[in-house]
Amino acid sequence: MQSFPAFFPLEGRRVAVIGEGPMADAKARLFEGSPASVVRLEATPPSLAGFALVFVALPEDAARAEAVAIARRDGVPVNVVDGPALSDFYTPAIVDRGELVIGVSTSGAAPTLARDLRARIEAIVPAAYAQLAAFARRIRARVLARRTDFEGRRRAWEAILRGAAGERALAGDQEAAEALAARTLDGETAAAGVVHLVGAGPGDPELLTLKALRTLQDADIVFHDKLVDSRVLDLIRRDAERVFVGKARGDHAVPQREIEARMIAEARKGRRVVRLKGGDPFVFGRGGEELQALRAAGVEAHVVPGITAALGCAAEAGVPLTHRDHAQAVTFVTGHAKEGAPDLDWPALANAKQTIVVYMGVDTAAHTARSLIAAGRDAATPVMVIESGATPHVKRARGVLSALPALIADAGILGPAILVIGDVVALADASAVSAEQAA
Ligand code: SAH
Repeated sequence: MQSFPAFFPLEGRRVAVIGEGPMADAKARLFEGSPASVVRLEATPPSLAGFALVFVALPEDAARAEAVAIARRDGVPVNVVDGPALSDFYTPAIVDRGELVIGVSTSGAAPTLARDLRARIEAIVPAAYAQLAAFARRIRARVLARRTDFEGRRRAWEAILRGAAGERALAGDQEAAEALAARTLDGETAAAGVVHLVGAGPGDPELLTLKALRTLQDADIVFHDKLVDSRVLDLIRRDAERVFVGKARGDHAVPQREIEARMIAEARKGRRVVRLKGGDPFVFGRGGEELQALRAAGVEAHVVPGITAALGCAAEAGVPLTHRDHAQAVTFVTGHAKEGAPDLDWPALANAKQTIVVYMGVDTAAHTARSLIAAGRDAATPVMVIESGATPHVKRARGVLSALPALIADAGILGPAILVIGDVVALADASAVSAEQAA
């Protein structure tokens, strides 16, 4: 460790910025919105006593040396812009979340690197964490009064901040958060767990939402499907328990009812449960059924949306699912309906100005093509089959509706894959197509 991070309280403090120009402005700006008062000075006054910090943004000359000398004499820590050797402290790249502050420093070696890292931290620390920290400050005295031993305090803080109270505080509902915290301190809701049904997107972990990432990093236990990319699983908190409930079609490792029962049991133990599903939980993901079961059991449950396969695959292939000249609607259908469910409404899907995306449609592609053509859709309608979209193994084959089964067979596509049917398929980047069917 080449430098030591320490945090200076700013409430009621005065900070001096000596010098003019963009660098001085930037230092003054750091304190905007903070309780410190910034005093801008063109030159060094005879005394700097009483300031908590001094920033010197002067050209390298005698005046600069004098400013540093006066700060030293008066015992005020000084930072010199572009003068690390003269500085008592470095200015970190700062992630500002009110009472929660993160500073990144390279000890003066590479401020750009620190700023890049800050940008990444900004992305993963929700702005709402400021509210969580403020909430913790407000209830701090009550927690300390009600729990006198170290262990008890730690457990109470974990139960409050990671439980329903923390969830409400993050959502901005401070009143409900305080009420829930009070109940936790009374021992009533010590075991109030929560379930998040989280969309993992189609593959690429960069397609996760910030909220999905946060729930993965907060989870005590994660139930995940076969479809979830291993790179997304790598983002789960290291010491969280992982349960594979592999649900590749036709091979239900754990039956649906049992998955629901286990999630409910874990939540009732007070754990933070994540149910991680490929794509979006509400698009052919049984998220609706699971949410009903959780609600019926009285378990707090939230849904975190994900990028569904159709959106992820289409974006990557350069296929606009709607386009003012070619498609005024897009319809997502399943090629694999529940046993006994009625067949799709083919006449409605035959409208040429509409894109159709078929999920789980590889095995039933022949039936789909035949039914659409019989209902009046042009046999020459462009189609694209996209397998393992948003992963390094992506495969895309393009052809026409009448030859869809041959297209799938020739490209050796086994799934998971979606079928995209409609004129917009012709707009795909040619470079994005790995197999093009001969006309
Ligand atoms: N909830 C998921 C869909 C689950 S159903 C979502 O919103 O995406 C499973 C089907 O999704 C697969 O049979 C396939 O049709 C599609 N699918 C999921 N991930 C995919 C991917 N990376 N590439 C292509 N299709 C995918």
